[in-house]
Amino acid sequence: MIIVIGGGPAGRMAAVRLASAGKDVTLLERRALGGQCVHDGCMLVCGLNDVARSIRNTEFLRGCGVIEGSVGVRYPEVMRRLEEVQARLSQILERETVEAGVKVEYGVTAEVRDGRVVVDGVVREAEAVVVACGAEMFVPDVPGAGLRGTYTARTIRSMPALPKRMAIVGGGISAAEFAYIFSAFGVEVLLFARHELLSVLPERMQKAVRRDLSSVAVYEHHALEAVLGEDAVCGVVAGGERFACDAVLFATGMRPSSPHVSGVLKREDGSIVVNERMETSVPGVYACGDVTGAPYFTPVSRLQGFAAADAILGSPRTVDLSRVPFTVVLGLDYTVCPCAGEEGVTFSSPNIAGPGSVWHVSDGSVGTMELTVAPESGKVVGFASSGPGTGVVGTYLGYLVRRGVTVHEFSPMLEVHPISDGLYSMIRFAEGHLRKE
Ligand SMILES: Cc1cc2nc3c(=O)[nH]c(=O)nc-3n(C[C@H](O)[C@H](O)[C@H](O)COP(=O)(O)OP(=O)(O)OC[C@H]3O[C@@H](n4cnc5c(N)ncnc54)[C@H](O)[C@@H]3O)c2cc1C
Repeated sequence: MIIVIGGGPAGRMAAVRLASAGKDVTLLERRALGGQCVHDGCMLVCGLNDVARSIRNTEFLRGCGVIEGSVGVRYPEVMRRLEEVQARLSQILERETVEAGVKVEYGVTAEVRDGRVVVDGVVREAEAVVVACGAEMFVPDVPGAGLRGTYTARTIRSMPALPKRMAIVGGGISAAEFAYIFSAFGVEVLLFARHELLSVLPERMQKAVRRDLSSVAVYEHHALEAVLGEDAVCGVVAGGERFACDAVLFATGMRPSSPHVSGVLKREDGSIVVNERMETSVPGVYACGDVTGAPYFTPVSRLQGFAAADAILGSPRTVDLSRVPFTVVLGLDYTVCPCAGEEGVTFSSPNIAGPGSVWHVSDGSVGTMELTVAPESGKVVGFASSGPGTGVVGTYLGYLVRRGVTVHEFSPMLEVHPISDGLYSMIRFAEGHLRKE
């Protein structure tokens, strides 16, 4: 029997693949299938962002004079309905997992001690173990961090009502996404970043991000020093200044969740060290997903889950983490596929008018397309695009970039029309320019 610990994207993919290959697989999960992605992360942010964008789009179109009336958010109802959706997603995942032949045990906090799985003090024999315990929210160790009124993405659903003023702490993707959401919900949001906000995005995109976050008070280079309050939050100290607020949301990163795993080699942050076959330092024990450290993305976890299963099945695959595309979802999608150190010429232009952007031609906020191309070969080495739905384009273009596709191969493409992504015109422009050169 093979034991998989954790039913998030990594563990579930590993379990399903192993069971589909005829292995006897038991998945141990302490909570519900879907992990952080379904319950505290991607789906939570998607659900809230859909509501936030609807509000902002309605306000924008009212400003254009084409619709009338106002919209407001029914926050407790949003959270209640979202929980129903998340439970439904979990059920769908459960059906898929069980139908693949995986036995799922819930409410189990498993331990791994020197390569053996222990549940409630009893050893479970297994021919291989896959550790996919994910990561926990990291909360900085500052005074007041545990006061009533402080939240993380994991606990935000327990916030009973919208606060008047919320401090969001963090300078990364989640901090920006929550700032967009809660400001659209009518909360006065103060965002405190230790360094620059969203430094993962290319400079050109920063301006558009600021537009999306125009109603957020952004304080960069303001490290959080304390949360203030007796019993509940009444303010924060950041960058040496005091700010009043009645809720604090920590979006300060994640830490691998490995306290239940001992005997394997770990880094200082608790991440489990694996080789390219997802093998840990203990033979027969594999690890995949967030528990092995950054980057903390669902598709990476899924691929690592497959890789762990394939290694157990005797046909190992390598997971290439050199160019992991990602999206920041605000008013627009901001999608980036980093260049991974390869040099190139960067072409950029505004994105185009199409679904989701045509009304924004009036204020110029249609987003941008940026393509980096190796001049000799014409190989696309990276890109960054902002606009409606650029995450979809990024998924497929990211794959082609990893495959080494050139603008010359790309140029006969037939685009769908209308779309709001200017990739095709940028590719043709880049191709024409390189030919001339
Ligand atoms: C706010 C937020 C937004 C995010 N947005 C995105 C996004 O837009 N795109 C993206 O790609 N990624 C996003 N992520 C990251 C994504 O959710 C994670 O990378 C992904 O869920 C990791 O999958 P995993 O299987 O490695 O771990 P997890 O999803 O954390 O799953 C681990 C599972 O193991 C279980 N478990 C842990 N320990 C034990 C134990 N000892 N015994 C039994 N069960 C155990 C847990 O209950 C959990 O179900 C976001 C994360 C957050 C917090």
